Amino acid sequence: MKILILNAGSSSQKSCLYDLTNNQLPDHPPEPIWKADIDWTVTKGQGILTVKANGIKQKITLNSDDHRQGIFKMLDTLVDGEIQVIDKLSEINIVGHRVVHGGTDYSEATLITPEVKAAIARLIPLAPTHNPSHIEGIEAIEQVLETVPQVAVFDTAFHSRMPVESAAYPIPYEWLEKGIRRYGFHGTSHKYCAEKASQLLNQPLNSLKIITCHLGNGCSLAAIKDGISIDTTMGFTPLEGLMMGTRSGSIDPAILIYLIREYKFTADQLNTMLNKESGFQGVSGISADLRAIVEALNEGNSRAQLAFDMYIHSLRSHLGKMLGSLGGLDTLVFTAGVGENSAIVREKTCEAFEFLGLKLDSEKNNNSPVNMDIATDDSTVRILVIHTQEDWAIAQECWQLYQSKIDT
Ligand code: ADP
Repeated sequence: MKILILNAGSSSQKSCLYDLTNNQLPDHPPEPIWKADIDWTVTKGQGILTVKANGIKQKITLNSDDHRQGIFKMLDTLVDGEIQVIDKLSEINIVGHRVVHGGTDYSEATLITPEVKAAIARLIPLAPTHNPSHIEGIEAIEQVLETVPQVAVFDTAFHSRMPVESAAYPIPYEWLEKGIRRYGFHGTSHKYCAEKASQLLNQPLNSLKIITCHLGNGCSLAAIKDGISIDTTMGFTPLEGLMMGTRSGSIDPAILIYLIREYKFTADQLNTMLNKESGFQGVSGISADLRAIVEALNEGNSRAQLAFDMYIHSLRSHLGKMLGSLGGLDTLVFTAGVGENSAIVREKTCEAFEFLGLKLDSEKNNNSPVNMDIATDDSTVRILVIHTQEDWAIAQECWQLYQSKIDT
């Protein structure tokens, strides 16, 4: 069985193809047989398509910024040239899309129908940089594979059962009724990590209180009880919560009012400042990448040091918030680019919670752990580093929907 995954962002299109022999879900995530990535940010009016398959890596320049044509070109590489992996596109059984915003309507992976497409389009005002790219991807597939089932896996779905007191903002109630509430994001990753934690610890998911820390370019925490996300740091948009690579995370909303009144900021200027020019990038003036920040602070750069200290402070204080929501903690999970790779971030974060009896084993922490418990034996809380596999999680959802479709 062949499952194609499309993960479209505002400035990139990532994609991969899984081939499940015997139509079985393997116990461990398999490697995709083909991976492709279009980066639309390198040169204006162009895209760079990178494809990896058959042990070969190819870079192709797309001489247009037409995203739909880019997707067609990307799909061509599946069936043509030296990196060809299948004979014809019709061998693909199902296509899964990562969709950032599903509003309150979708609490699980859903087969894409005209109604689902209309709902994704209706939610564009809530995810203006992502949902249009998802529609584009869905329609491109419709054009080349008219009858293939397509599945939407929503980033918001895992958080859709958050209790209303976690989801609502303390503003006039009518706005809650109009959809201004916390939705939460990175849901596929938080869910995957919670399930993987239960597997690694060999304990049922519904017996665990877990905090998952998804720390990539975007960062969010989720408080998970009985397998359900009961609180999370991202909110109405992925801007709320933790300090991130280029995003500010939560700030006093009155700052925006002040900037509008005193500096005549427009909505677009505020959007750019808070989403693209803040976080590590904005504070350090060096980079959005933690590796560059650590290098600079080791050379004595004081703004890099400040950016790092603020990041840790933000992480610790939001962890405190999640702890309060959970009323206890069995397992702390670190995942994504920073969470999986930065021993110093894990160490500094855990230090603040030693009073709980949570103890990090520094040798394990410093030894590039993957899918491993890095707490000491006598720690009261397990500390896991889990390699998140969002594409594989989407493929699993597709497999399950495909099987239920065959069964009915
Ligand atoms: P995205 O959120 O775009 O999916 P990732 O989860 O891949 O991103 O995380 C990217 C970030 O991870 C980079 O910006 C970088 O700061 C961080 N990162 C990656 N590798 C390392 C490393 N070895 N040490 C510290 N940080 C790292």
